[in-house]
Amino acid sequence: MDAQNLLRLSLSVGLSGLVFVVISALIFWPFEELLEGPKGERPKLKDLAYLWFYQSFGLWIGAGIIFEIAFQLRGLLPHAWRLFVLHQPFWLQATAALLFAEVWVYSVHRLSHQWKFLWQFHRVHHTLVDMTWSASSRQHPVDFFLAVVGANLPAMILGIDLKSIALFVLLERLYTVMLHSNLNLDWGWFSKIVASPNLHRLHHQPTTRGKNYAGILSLLDVLANTYEPPAPKPGSDVAGDREHKLTG
Ligand SMILES: [Zn+2]
Ligand SMILES: [Zn+2]
Repeated sequence: MDAQNLLRLSLSVGLSGLVFVVISALIFWPFEELLEGPKGERPKLKDLAYLWFYQSFGLWIGAGIIFEIAFQLRGLLPHAWRLFVLHQPFWLQATAALLFAEVWVYSVHRLSHQWKFLWQFHRVHHTLVDMTWSASSRQHPVDFFLAVVGANLPAMILGIDLKSIALFVLLERLYTVMLHSNLNLDWGWFSKIVASPNLHRLHHQPTTRGKNYAGILSLLDVLANTYEPPAPKPGSDVAGDREHKLTG
């Protein structure tokens, strides 16, 4: 690739990150401003720089590493297997890719809390206690690349076409921004399957840090017994039940 093409590619990668930051800001900033009032966390330039870098060059570097490793390892798989994967319907390939990614994210996240070596990187993300959309990418590079490379590698090795689910990857990135926003959002019983901002907020509190490790699929937390539901709203039936049990 000559210098001019490299410059053009760098500019479009940088621009894609900028578009991502602007879209995130347009969706989540007004809601946080409206619902939090003057005491809410305000976007910091450093956090926005993290968001821009990881969602542009970070993803491209990650994709480069994934392609390289997958290319080497795919050669070891039998040709018949690759044909078998390619002939599966799109929904099945996408579901398998999502499952591989979520199991990896859950496992490496839990390990990052339990293994001191990984915690030294992951603790950067946990400096975020007062939630805000703008700090969703506050991460050490080791923490970021470990998650992003590991999450997409199995699907690539198996031959699942990740390019066809590029839109899904973008939505997944936006979902992560929403999980870190300070919006009071929960999906009721469905939060036991798909994570909500209220669930992930608990993961960022020092007392419940060992709970709710999942990226999107909170069902993994339920299965591994690390699920912690948000406290019931005062006055709700469940809260009333608890009060009744305590006083009764
Ligand atoms: Zn964590
Ligand atoms: Zn987080």
